[in-house]
Amino acid sequence: MTPPFEGPRYLVAFGPKRVPHCFTDVLILGGGLAGLRAALAVDPRLAVTVVTKNDLHSSSSQWAQGGIAGVHDPEDRFDNHVADTLSAGGGLCHEDVVDAVVREAPARIAELVSWGTKFDERDGALDLGREGGHSHHRIVHALGDATGREVMRAVIERTRTLTNLEVWPDTFTIDLVTDADGCRGALVWNRAHGKTLVWARRTILATGGAGQLYRESTNPEGASGDGLALAWRAGASVRDMEFMQFHPTVLYIAGGARSLITEAVRGAGAQLVDRDGRRFMPEFDPRAELAPRDVVSRAITIVMQRTHHANVYLDLSHLDPETVHRRFPGMAQICAKFGLDLARDRIPVRPGAHYMIGGVEVDAQGRTDLPGLLAAGEVTSSGLHGANRLASNSLLEGLVYGARAGEAASADVLGSGGGDPLRVPDLSNPRTTDATGSLDLADIRNSLRSLMWRHVGVERSGGSLGEALETVEGWCRYVLPLQFTDPEGWQLQNMLEVARLMIRSAMTREETRGVHVRSDFPATSERWRAHVGWRRGRAEPFLEPLAARSAANGPAARAASARGLPDARPLGKN
Ligand SMILES: Cc1cc2nc3c(=O)[nH]c(=O)nc-3n(C[C@H](O)[C@H](O)[C@H](O)COP(=O)(O)OP(=O)(O)OC[C@H]3O[C@@H](n4cnc5c(N)ncnc54)[C@H](O)[C@@H]3O)c2cc1C
Repeated sequence: MTPPFEGPRYLVAFGPKRVPHCFTDVLILGGGLAGLRAALAVDPRLAVTVVTKNDLHSSSSQWAQGGIAGVHDPEDRFDNHVADTLSAGGGLCHEDVVDAVVREAPARIAELVSWGTKFDERDGALDLGREGGHSHHRIVHALGDATGREVMRAVIERTRTLTNLEVWPDTFTIDLVTDADGCRGALVWNRAHGKTLVWARRTILATGGAGQLYRESTNPEGASGDGLALAWRAGASVRDMEFMQFHPTVLYIAGGARSLITEAVRGAGAQLVDRDGRRFMPEFDPRAELAPRDVVSRAITIVMQRTHHANVYLDLSHLDPETVHRRFPGMAQICAKFGLDLARDRIPVRPGAHYMIGGVEVDAQGRTDLPGLLAAGEVTSSGLHGANRLASNSLLEGLVYGARAGEAASADVLGSGGGDPLRVPDLSNPRTTDATGSLDLADIRNSLRSLMWRHVGVERSGGSLGEALETVEGWCRYVLPLQFTDPEGWQLQNMLEVARLMIRSAMTREETRGVHVRSDFPATSERWRAHVGWRRGRAEPFLEPLAARSAANGPAARAASARGLPDARPLGKN
């Protein structure tokens, strides 16, 4: 592979004498579930600032439908939830991480209840749903199919009681600010104040996923992979970037939003049928519609090709209409807008990019290998999901790792005895190449999203990945050196950085595993039971074989050795 064109370390120019400064103890980038859970875990003696690029109601967390996985049924066992997670994860999960997260789930869910979340109940007990890949009923849900809305309502209300917390909405994080000691905070921007340097003793990255890199996606507008790109530019390791999970059943109506149709609909008995009304899943997997997402997505793709049809259909017409409408009111309402009755009509669906499995590498406390930076939620790779996320394990991960990152950040700050971590280093980042008005950013963005869908979608091959890389590299060469003045440009630059990391990872992994399907390498190979990781300044990926995984090669150990590496550069040396 030719080495990628390395863009500048910072997206924009800044200098300490030119921008306002703000000081906080813990800076949290992202106001979804992971970010807010982290905020709630920070010691109340410390000042916390949460920066979010839109309002607190626009995250993927808010959009979550199906629910949160956790063992509550007396018939169920932690071991079953662990086994289901490992089985979906295709050999890349960290068993210790899975075990710990699964065991913590009931307590984290109980905590949400104690903060006022009203999960759906049946006969006075939690009404547990079942989703693809789960061997038991264990999904707690709320408002039928609007779990995220209810959970975020309660969590946002809870954070409003914190007197040490300040939320900055509509504020875009442009870059993490680093010096020789690691992450020192972030450069942020909003319309009212322009660029501001936020200095923090610890920074927690919780910026969510990257589904917007694809033309077909379930994700909100803001899921453009910013956090992945800015962590990468700052020198943190990212890994498993080839693993984008596609949700099999995304409503496919021309002109309509690509709404996800929750797995719980199939859990409730909905069947997948082709254009002729033939049920096809039993042909692909004995678990039929309840097979894991990668299996269902692949089956749908094959059936769409076989039938020369742009989609398949969900059929609920054999179920009780009243139950369908009561259990899935949100989805029924969306379908009704297009003249479809969820309980009677065949609902057109196809796969769409849904969940970014890869991300910034974190240890059990949410620490990255960039000193001073922690991370939680979808932006991370914690070892929980392996090569394929089990449904409803991601809100859980955000709760568990959000809490841990908040606690770890507190412990670091309080344990340092104050020290002098808030000194302002002598830094500046002069850049000169301003973007001219001649570039059609929307055109590049749309082209990128179509390219990713065509070449880095449910099924990939070396040839088409190579083609995609060449195109994206070409865009990077003329877009990355430019200096933009607002989020549209910065977001596009982040999307390009993330896209090529994803493509290069997908090219590196010459096998099929989990959600990553290579038509030219259809088998899974023991040789590739390893993470593919990347670090800025290194042209080649690093491989972390799972068999050899130990504390010695985890993020903390690499952080220690990284301090001497040439890519852990001081500021202004880009
Ligand atoms: C339609 C849908 C349904 C889902 N259903 C489920 C489900 O039922 N169960 C489940 O477990 N998971 C589900 N998921 C996945 C789950 O919702 C997400 O993985 C999870 O909510 C991620 O939480 P997070 O806090 O990491 O990120 P998010 O909730 O996405 O929050 C990210 C935050 O970062 C902010 N941000 C991003 N970039 C910047 C920037 N540059 N500057 C400042 N702020 C920034 C955003 O504004 C946002 O506040 C679903 C996802 C979608 C899209």
